[in-house]
Amino acid sequence: MSDIKVTNLRKNFGAVEVLKDINLDIRSGEFVIFVGPSGCGKSTLLRCISGLERISGGALEIGGRVVNNVPASKRGIAMVFQSYALYPHMSVRENMAYSMKLRRAPKTEIEVRVADAARKLQLAPYLDRYPRELSGGQRQRVAIGRAIVRDPQVFLFDEPLSNLDAALRVATRLEIARLKESLPQTTMVYVTHDQVEAMTLADRIVVLNAGRVEQVGTPEELYERPQSLFVAGFIGSPK
Ligand code: ADP
Ligand code: MG
Repeated sequence: MSDIKVTNLRKNFGAVEVLKDINLDIRSGEFVIFVGPSGCGKSTLLRCISGLERISGGALEIGGRVVNNVPASKRGIAMVFQSYALYPHMSVRENMAYSMKLRRAPKTEIEVRVADAARKLQLAPYLDRYPRELSGGQRQRVAIGRAIVRDPQVFLFDEPLSNLDAALRVATRLEIARLKESLPQTTMVYVTHDQVEAMTLADRIVVLNAGRVEQVGTPEELYERPQSLFVAGFIGSPK
């Protein structure tokens, strides 16, 4: 079943067309990665899917429903950004529980969900700490946990590891791989400019170049059969 369907999507900022006729079909439960050089439109495409940006043309469906005019908060989506804006005055537990508290979820349900997310992300020992007492990688895991607690149908990540140093990046990438295994029903779309992340995490990779889809395929397909020098250069295969 298709979970995110993008049809002839265009996006311009003023006179500048940043996304040009994008077509994509992302299946339910898939982990799809957008790669491409800085400025090619990865974040803008993700923000269009999330509803943080309005699209200029075409159509966007999520879970079989056209969402062109549906506000971000009603799309069943959670988004994790590069910079993790945790509430500094709240403990890890409170940060993770906050969105459910706002929605007045029952206390026991909140506790169960927070404990479950903490287990999935190896955060159980840190639930009573404050953000300032955590490493960058742990903070980013709390940001991911906060999103998981909301039980989104679709999870969007925009370069979640790019602010971490190399060692933490590897460790946190492994956490995300584990998260993907533990949430097989959740569709995940992940933006990176890092080929290693793309090749190791993705079920399928979408290569973007200057606002267009250059090629879509599994990591193996892109590596073995790049359809352009651009893809070959980006993925690192000989052609
Ligand atoms: P990427 O995430 O691939 O680095 P972006 O999606 O952030 O690229 O940006 C794509 C292009 O759109 C860039 O040229 C950028 O300058 C431009 N852009 C992004 N957001 C805005 C905005 N709010 N207003 C004007 N131009 C923007
Ligand atoms: Mg970006």
